[in-house]
Amino acid sequence: TEKFKNGLSKTSASLAGAMSSVFSRNKIDEELYEELEDILISADVGVDTTMEIVDRLRVEVKERKLKDPEELKPLLSEILVDMLKGEGDEAGMNQNPDGLTVILFVGVNGVGKTTTIGKLAHHYKEEGKKVMLAAGDTFRAGAIEQLEIWGDRVGVDVIRHQEGSDPAAVIYDGIQAARSRGADILLCDTAGRLQNKVNLMEELKKVHRVIGREVADAPHESLLVLDATTGQNALQQAKIFKEATNITGIVLTKMDGTAKGGIALAIRRELNVPVKWIGLGEKMDDLQPFNAEQFVHALFA
Ligand code: GDP
Repeated sequence: TEKFKNGLSKTSASLAGAMSSVFSRNKIDEELYEELEDILISADVGVDTTMEIVDRLRVEVKERKLKDPEELKPLLSEILVDMLKGEGDEAGMNQNPDGLTVILFVGVNGVGKTTTIGKLAHHYKEEGKKVMLAAGDTFRAGAIEQLEIWGDRVGVDVIRHQEGSDPAAVIYDGIQAARSRGADILLCDTAGRLQNKVNLMEELKKVHRVIGREVADAPHESLLVLDATTGQNALQQAKIFKEATNITGIVLTKMDGTAKGGIALAIRRELNVPVKWIGLGEKMDDLQPFNAEQFVHALFA
């Protein structure tokens, strides 16, 4: 939780002061709600999500007959946590109880996909699992080598073909290799060239089909990696991916590099997909499972 707090310090530094000024006003009135709205919007919570938060706050204030702005703090936390949790999804990762777990990663170039795969490989290796990587971004120059660098760093095998080859074939081979070497988890990279959207989405669908055909109920997770520092842009990307592929979770990277970590709320609510991990730095252990309570606590405790 220290790590969580430190990683989110840019957002909390910009939020905490403003929030405490709201909670120390002398009454709960229209001005207070407006001030709160401005703060949330400036933290990239998004207009619609902000309105919903403030509306829920108004309703609860009425119902609970609250008078003191100090009482808003726990109430606001409660509402934010509730929103981040959504409808009953817990943040955990779905895994294959008796066999190979396949996790697919999608996202635009530069968002931190390769780094996240490396970090997650490290995470599972630390848990004692045997992890392998499949270099499914055969399009971007250097993507395969970059994944291999992470593979070496973490100490896990990488299955690769040549640049330009069929990603579905690489992942197919990854699955066969993972099985024959007795791996528990296969993490699959994919291309992120959104400038050729239709083509990329067809490629991702094919990768999905191949994985599903080889391993029952796979991919067990399909994680969309988004760069938190790109704010509302990340949300646009997410909508494109969500239309074309089945996304089961979000990884929000570079949360350490933004004061606008409120984007997590907008993403959760607008996409209706749980945030499962957050990236809090460039190093191997700078990936944390997303926890709504810890997140909200770090923002304005
Ligand atoms: P990809 O193109 O999506 O595979 O992106 P990369 O994994 O190559 O990451 C792009 C850049 O973002 C690299 O310089 C990474 O070190 C950096 N990066 C990735 N995740 C994080 C993070 O959580 N925090 C910070 N500060 N940098 C990150």
